[in-house]
Amino acid sequence: NADIALYQVKKTGRNNIQFFSQEMNRIVQKRLKIATELQDALDQNQFFLHYQPIVDYAQSRAIGVEALVRWKHRNKTRHPDEFIPVAEEMGLIVPLGRWVLQSALQQMRIWIDQGFLLNRLAVNVAVKQIHSAGFVDFLEYLLKENRIDPALLELEITERTLMFQDHHTLETLSRIRDLGVSISVDDFGTGYSSLNYIRNFPVNTLKIDRSFLTGLFNNHYDQAIVLAILAMAKSLSLDVVAEGVEQEEQDRFLRNNGCYLAQGYYYGHPVSPEKVQPLFDRIAQNPPHKIP
Ligand code: C2E
Ligand code: MG
Ligand code: MG
Ligand code: MG
Repeated sequence: NADIALYQVKKTGRNNIQFFSQEMNRIVQKRLKIATELQDALDQNQFFLHYQPIVDYAQSRAIGVEALVRWKHRNKTRHPDEFIPVAEEMGLIVPLGRWVLQSALQQMRIWIDQGFLLNRLAVNVAVKQIHSAGFVDFLEYLLKENRIDPALLELEITERTLMFQDHHTLETLSRIRDLGVSISVDDFGTGYSSLNYIRNFPVNTLKIDRSFLTGLFNNHYDQAIVLAILAMAKSLSLDVVAEGVEQEEQDRFLRNNGCYLAQGYYYGHPVSPEKVQPLFDRIAQNPPHKIP
């Protein structure tokens, strides 16, 4: 009868709420735990960088790398998707980001001293990092300290960051550009893609998100979007890097449609610093086809 039915609803409703709060509690606890562990990881040097080659079709060789952070946590290698979001939320992205920049620029100096010359070092930076006090001064200091030509450095900022078209972001990005450092829009096409910001922000490069390459041959929208990005970049004189190139057909499509820079497992996974030069050599021995 009706009373019993109502009672049932109330009961399950209450159970649901209880379940929900338990679940929330569990998630919060887990995040707190990761945050504590991340702080320890910084103190104990558990982070390290891997580098993935960026290939230039026009030159038929790898010309640079993107630095990607890793975390050695209890004998397991943790990937950024598992900890960067927590680090951002808990404010740890600022010290972690400083460590990443410093390590990448130190590594660049080691490579230069070895006579291994790269044209481009791409480093990911989070919005909180850019907004943190003294970011540009620290960047300038690191470049000087490691004697790195600022033109070799490119900071990758996700499209989502650029959505906040506030005065502060614009000013900071302009100061970064004034140092001679380039700026690229990472995961391009996945944010709100208000093309307005390309006009307002001083960006050099668009990195096409790899989700568009995944669907390249089974979704004509993805193909149309990639072509549109390439056309737009060309008319605005922006560089484009295609991310997540895994197959020869994707590679051929990009080359045939005016993309000049590519990154993906097809050319190489992210590797430790000492494996970068051998990987470059391997790519040079088996070069991507020259653009006719
Ligand atoms: P991202 O900057 O878009 O980097 C590209 C990601 O795609 C990397 O994942 C890379 O390993 C992966 N990838 C490259 N080629 C291929 C491919 O052919 N196929 C597939 N399936 N994946 C490919 P990773 O290293 O796990 O990094 C994930 C994200 O974490 C990065 O995406 C970046 O947004 C963030 N991240 C990484 N390092 C840092 C860092 O030092 N600071 C900050 N703030 N974020 C970072
Ligand atoms: Mg990136
Ligand atoms: Mg990306
Ligand atoms: Mg990405």
